[in-house]
Amino acid sequence: MSDHSTSTIHTTVAIIGAGFGGLGAAIELKRRGEHDLVILERATEVGGTWRDNTYPGCRCDVQSNLYSFSFAPNPSWSNTYPSQPELLDYLRGVTRDHHLGHHLRFGFEVASVEFDEELGRWRLRAVDGREVIAANVILATGGLAEPRLPDLEGLDGFEGTIVHSATWDDDLDLAGVRAAVIGTGASAIQIVPAIADDVGHLTVFQRTPPWVLPHPGKKVSSRAKRLYALAPPFQRLARWADYWLREWLVVPFVKAPKIMAGAEKKALEHLHGQVEDPALREALTPDYRLGCKRILMSDEYYPALQLDTVDLETRSIECVTPTGIRLDDGTEIDLDVLICATGFKVTDNPTATKVHGRGGVPLAAAYQGQLPCYRGTSFPGFPNLYMITGPNTALGHSSMVFMIESQLSYIAEAIAFSTANDNDLIEPRREVAAAEEDAIQAKLPGTVWGTGCASWYLTDEGRNVTIWPDFTFRYRQRTRHLIPEHHVVTSTS
Ligand code: NAP
Repeated sequence: MSDHSTSTIHTTVAIIGAGFGGLGAAIELKRRGEHDLVILERATEVGGTWRDNTYPGCRCDVQSNLYSFSFAPNPSWSNTYPSQPELLDYLRGVTRDHHLGHHLRFGFEVASVEFDEELGRWRLRAVDGREVIAANVILATGGLAEPRLPDLEGLDGFEGTIVHSATWDDDLDLAGVRAAVIGTGASAIQIVPAIADDVGHLTVFQRTPPWVLPHPGKKVSSRAKRLYALAPPFQRLARWADYWLREWLVVPFVKAPKIMAGAEKKALEHLHGQVEDPALREALTPDYRLGCKRILMSDEYYPALQLDTVDLETRSIECVTPTGIRLDDGTEIDLDVLICATGFKVTDNPTATKVHGRGGVPLAAAYQGQLPCYRGTSFPGFPNLYMITGPNTALGHSSMVFMIESQLSYIAEAIAFSTANDNDLIEPRREVAAAEEDAIQAKLPGTVWGTGCASWYLTDEGRNVTIWPDFTFRYRQRTRHLIPEHHVVTSTS
């Protein structure tokens, strides 16, 4: 990489984002001999979603051994399901161990990523004016990176404190305050029990009850940790056991959603075991197929809702007032702190609107059914550009780290192909990408995500542009190698 002027970096590969995807991409490229790369990160340290989501109780719902890089096992996980601080430490350690420090450029908030047709290169601009010219771009900005505030009238005029789960203020003092959590998704059900004992009063606004299963997490014994450290194959074995135990879940998720009835029974037993009040039970009973939204796991959520200081509110919110929330029936709830656990901009991710390919086409078109995506990673008209966790790569049943590592093989081979050929431009053939996307879309209506609930997996029009509806090993097979005949190559000379 070279600085031709004070503000322009010329590089072979620009990676945007320093979470699991960006760090993994840099490591894989370096392993294959490509060292001319920069990692552009808007924040001041690595970690991605595990740096940003510092809300109380934040924890991953996939096992530690599986939700980590296959090449960087951690024998010291304290629990079978990792907490956010532990995952952030893990990613800091991976960054150190793989000597990524000198590739990182912090505070680089991308303003635009444009394909310069004349130059045959990508031109990346930061909001502070810095510029990078790159032969290849890897977008590793993550699908769950842009917080979504609720679309509620009056939110701007609230005179108390508003915080989103993904932009938590670590100095926020909740002791004795009147707080509310809007939302009952994966973030909310972790926040509620973690703060319920501190606040003066907590109102939980539920629009749709989630399915909640018992949490299987447990402490990793010091014996197991010693074993993992001394004999890594045992940890690899544990990882593959977790992998295969999850992989069969594709059957109820994709092939036969009716099988979810068994898990629904288990979730209802959990609800009935923890909640005695029939009215509260009813309010907490979902009326859609388990798995249609993300399946949640908690042993603490239902007990927290039954504390004297906590109320579950199922009436609709009319608006936010300067002093709290007004319900549809006119009831006013006074609040000091409003916690929005209302999810992320996924299908309308603003990053995609900043990226433009040949002819100025925005990448956002890929989420509107107007630009086919090849193997969740590359796009016709966007030569030498790759997206980690792109369209239809998200999972309901297993680890995204597995999907990321799968993508890296294809990406690294494509970049090696281009650099070996004078930085030729390589992009998927439109008809191949379109046929693959059609096949994915044809599958989705019969899956659990097509059973009729609202979720962040779907666009406003109901198109599922997020989920990979198949076994993850099938995805890995497809991304294992670059298939040249699926691509168009153009010379830059
Ligand atoms: P989410 O699943 O999108 O949930 C958002 C919640 O906010 C939903 O309950 C939604 O209600 C509610 N909501 C949104 N707008 C609202 C409004 N205007 N009024 C009332 N309620 C409103 O978001 P999330 O909980 O942040 O989770 C997002 C994803 O992040 C998860 O699915 C998961 O993939 C990941 N995540 C994982 C973990 C983990 O590993 N344990 C933890 C956190 C997040 P409706 O259901 O009615 O739409």
